[in-house]
This record gives sequence, C-alpha cells and structure tokens, in this order.
Amino acid sequence: MSLDTTAVLPTVTRSSAGTLDARAVSAWFGDRKVLEQVSLLMPAGQVTALIGPSGCGKSTFLRILNRMHELIPSAALAGEVLLDGADIYAPERRLTTARRDIGMVFQKPNPFPAMSIYDNVLAGLKLTGVRASRAEKDHLVEECLTKAGLWKEVQDRLRQPGGALSGGQQQRLCIARSLAVRPKILLMDEPCSALDPTSTRRIEQTIRELVEEVTIVIVTHNMQQAQRVSDQCAFFLAEQGTSGGIVEHGPTDAMFGAPVDQRTSDYVNGRF
Ligand code: ADP
Ligand code: MG
Repeated sequence: MSLDTTAVLPTVTRSSAGTLDARAVSAWFGDRKVLEQVSLLMPAGQVTALIGPSGCGKSTFLRILNRMHELIPSAALAGEVLLDGADIYAPERRLTTARRDIGMVFQKPNPFPAMSIYDNVLAGLKLTGVRASRAEKDHLVEECLTKAGLWKEVQDRLRQPGGALSGGQQQRLCIARSLAVRPKILLMDEPCSALDPTSTRRIEQTIRELVEEVTIVIVTHNMQQAQRVSDQCAFFLAEQGTSGGIVEHGPTDAMFGAPVDQRTSDYVNGRF
C-alpha cells in the first residue's frame, strides 16, 4: 500500500467538547405532538442523563439532537438546536457536518458484523473526507479502541469480524467507531440495557473518561447508572393525553437528593 504523504488526519489527540443547547423544541409524528417546548442546555464536558418512563419522548429528543428525526417522513419539528451557538438545522449546514460533530450509540450494539474490528473503527472516516496513510489509520484505530476500553482485548485480533465479539465488546467497538470522526458530542440511547452488569460498569467507566473530551447525552432507565455517570439530569414525562416534556432538570445530586417536583421524587425513588 502506498503511503499518502499529504494525509491530513487531525493531529490533535483531544477534540474539544461542544455545548448543545436545545431551545423550545417541539416534535410531531403526523398530527400527534410528542414533545412540547423542550429546552435543555447540555454543557461542554458534562454527562447529561435523560430519564423518565417509556414513551415520553427521550429517544425522539435524542434523535433530534443529530438530525435523525428529519429522516422520518411523518416527523416535524419546531425550535432550535445549537451546537456551540450554531443551529444544526440551519439550511446552509450540511447533514454530514452535524453527523460528524454529533455521534450516536444505540441500545443494541450495531457494529458491521462481517467487517473486521479494524475496519469497523474506520467505517465513519469517509464522512470526514480526509485521506490517511496506513500508519495514521493504525494510530487512530489504536487510539479509539483504547479510549473505548477495548484495545487490550482486541489488539491481537484486529482482522477478526466485529460480529465475533461479545455484546459488551461490540458496544465498545461502536463507541470506538463513533470516536474515530472526533465528534464534539456523543449521544447514547440506553447503551447498556442489552448488556450484563460487568460490561455495563466498563462502559460507565469509559463514559466518565470520555467526557473530558466529548460531551455526552445518555438516555437511561437505570437510576443507579444515572447517578454514577451523569453531572446533570433531565426528567422527561408525558402525562396522560399530553406531549412529553421536561418536568425538572438540574445537577444529578440535587435531582436525586432534593427533587423539587413530587413527580420527579416519585420517579427517582422507583414509585412510578
Ligand atoms: P422514549 O424513548 O422516551 O421511550 P420515544 O421518543 O421513543 O419515547 O417515543 C415518544 C412517542 O413518540 C411515543 O408515543 C412513540 O410511540 C412515538 N413515536 C416514536 N417514534 C415514532 C415514529 N417513528 N412514528 C410515530 N410515532 C413515533
Ligand atoms: Mg427510547
């Protein structure tokens, strides 16, 4: 393989975490309004946990934060999502830019099963439009797998298919794949709910290490997990016949230690 001497992979080892600011976001599927005026600041360098019962719009809100919502034909949106002050939905802003800046990890690990571990990590790189030498790719793969806490386990088997890994390893591979494009934000929709407790704790540890350089927004139904990993929480609720919205948000310690709203108190104490 010939080396490309003009390679321009970013040389910085840290990306700069970004701030996401959702302002008065409402969402519809057809005629049905599922989110009502949701405003939430997700500051750089923090883990924000979105908590609340099923069906209250947490996944919809998360998808709106990286423009996946607009891929659903029946979906409509009002409000703004600002990444470091710039609206990700602005007409001049390309979808690929939003996708590169804002990565997503899903509940069910979804590596490309037949693709090698090595190529899985690099799969999103085309998005960045950069060319890289083999040595730079090797370096990036090692760096991203290390940050995802998977390097030691797979360094001798990088050519094996991603599908051969355990569930927890596959999820860490997906995290590594997200990191390869150096996102500012990482969105995670119940990333541990398909995993065993040991894998879950390893991912939680990874989340706390990553937040130094990537702002994280995580949906979780696990209240212990929300307390372990997040700096701030937002409690979503859709009361009967109403659209989903945020009842209360604030620092995680306060949300769990001294919630203001009775409904928050009931939820975080398992009385829902
Ligand atoms: P949560 O993640 O909090 O469980 P969701 O965001 O998945 O909630 O769903 C919020 C509401 O929107 C639910 O009533 C759900 O049925 C509805 N919904 C989600 N996705 C779609 C879709 N693609 N088309 C129509 N309705 C949807
Ligand atoms: Mg959901």
